Amino acid sequence: MNTQKWDTLIIGSGLAGLSCGLELAERGQRVHILEAAPYPGGRTSNWSDTGMEVESGFHKYIGFYQALPDLLRRAGIKLNTMLTWEKTFEIRLPDGETTGEYGIAPLKSPIKTVSGAFGNSDILSAVDKASLMPFVAEGLRLLAEDPMELDTYSVAEFARKHGVKEGALDNILTPLTSGVLFLPPDRYSALVFFGLFAPGLPRFYKLQLGAFNGGMTDVMIAPIVAKLESLGSRVSLNSPVSALSVKEGRVTGVSLADGSTLDADHVVLATEVSAAKHLLQPAFDGEQWLRPLQALPTMPDVTIQLELSEPLLPQDRATFGPGTCIGSFSEQSRTTFRGVPGRVSMILTPPEEFIEMPDELIFERVCEDADKLGLGLRAAATDYRVIRRPDHFYAVQPGSERLRPEQRTPVPGLSLAGDYTRQPMYATMEGAVLSGRKAAEAVLGRELD
Ligand SMILES: Cc1cc2nc3c(=O)[nH]c(=O)nc-3n(C[C@H](O)[C@H](O)[C@H](O)COP(=O)(O)OP(=O)(O)OC[C@H]3O[C@@H](n4cnc5c(N)ncnc54)[C@H](O)[C@@H]3O)c2cc1C
Repeated sequence: MNTQKWDTLIIGSGLAGLSCGLELAERGQRVHILEAAPYPGGRTSNWSDTGMEVESGFHKYIGFYQALPDLLRRAGIKLNTMLTWEKTFEIRLPDGETTGEYGIAPLKSPIKTVSGAFGNSDILSAVDKASLMPFVAEGLRLLAEDPMELDTYSVAEFARKHGVKEGALDNILTPLTSGVLFLPPDRYSALVFFGLFAPGLPRFYKLQLGAFNGGMTDVMIAPIVAKLESLGSRVSLNSPVSALSVKEGRVTGVSLADGSTLDADHVVLATEVSAAKHLLQPAFDGEQWLRPLQALPTMPDVTIQLELSEPLLPQDRATFGPGTCIGSFSEQSRTTFRGVPGRVSMILTPPEEFIEMPDELIFERVCEDADKLGLGLRAAATDYRVIRRPDHFYAVQPGSERLRPEQRTPVPGLSLAGDYTRQPMYATMEGAVLSGRKAAEAVLGRELD
């Protein structure tokens, strides 16, 4: 690692760090991104795990995102090449037979969208559907008028307060919480629930999901890194930062785990929430501005990824398994992992139950629950890996919102980026990109146009 001085050092090469880096590099800054892992992309990455290609967990791009597609366009990535668009998602109930198909692309698949919403009466009766109306209306009203009040409720509390039937809570609200950000409705903030879906309402026509056509590092992150390097910036892998350098109250650079130091006018801490706390604590412990972040609760995420002798499902699409430990899953052998006959990625819920469970027990539990969903997973599985992270997410539970920090800090030379920092799209790829953009504004001391 050489000792030259950079305009800005960014710690972390997830979408937050890369988004911040590209904003700054495009405005003439010399940026150096330091990444602890041997591959870039953080929670949007793929790598080889003892001979099996894995990813951080299956991701779906939501069609109404705005900041992420803008970043991708500037890196020369064509959305329609990077993604396969999915026009439906599926809910499977744990009785081994009931399934429902829901259209999510009103423009491209209008009939399925309408019939999914009004049909599927095995999943939701007419009474269940009607019971959701006041809940949705009141949630959207409170989101606009008093979001912090909405953050005092869990989805389950808010649903019961507004008369949602238990069938609707179990079969539609559970998939949309456990299957999206891992926590069940009684632990998932009503603010995050409505806040994530509300931006889609005015852009309803854009609603569709995209599956990645390849590992996320390969098809999304690598081209962004290449763009940054073409602008004179650098991304260093295997470069864990061990401490922030602070002189007379100003952050002046970083120390790396190999003992070297780097100086810069500005440092952007763009790690996941737990690593950010770890790096900030020794330098700023006890300072008023840091206390909310120190109190921000974190949560784990656990996925199991399986190679199969044949595809588990006839389509690659997001599928939800309420009433089981499989919050959501996706067949991927026609999209993200094409080199194998069958490939499925499953997000487990609640994650705390699995974070320390041995891999073999997780496999057994998942196979049992897959049986309940009418899926013969055990017979088809040829290999699997469990990917787990103890505390990379801030917990999307009631009360977290007021603890999320702004990107601008009171410390000269220091800004924060990352999905946990304050931006309107919570713990998503879009949220991470938005946070990077706001961190770049903090570095430059002005709004970006
Ligand atoms: C299983 C799963 C499914 C998901 N599904 C979706 C989805 O469908 N749609 C969606 O929009 N979002 C989804 N997400 C969320 C999305 O991936 C994240 O919100 C987003 O990628 C976070 O980006 P980030 O840059 O904030 O953090 P990260 O991607 O976590 O990046 C932080 C980086 O900092 C690095 N780092 C940490 N400490 C140090 C250090 N000391 N020195 C140097 N580097 C360090 C890390 O190695 C990492 O690369 C999912 C996430 C997971 C895990």
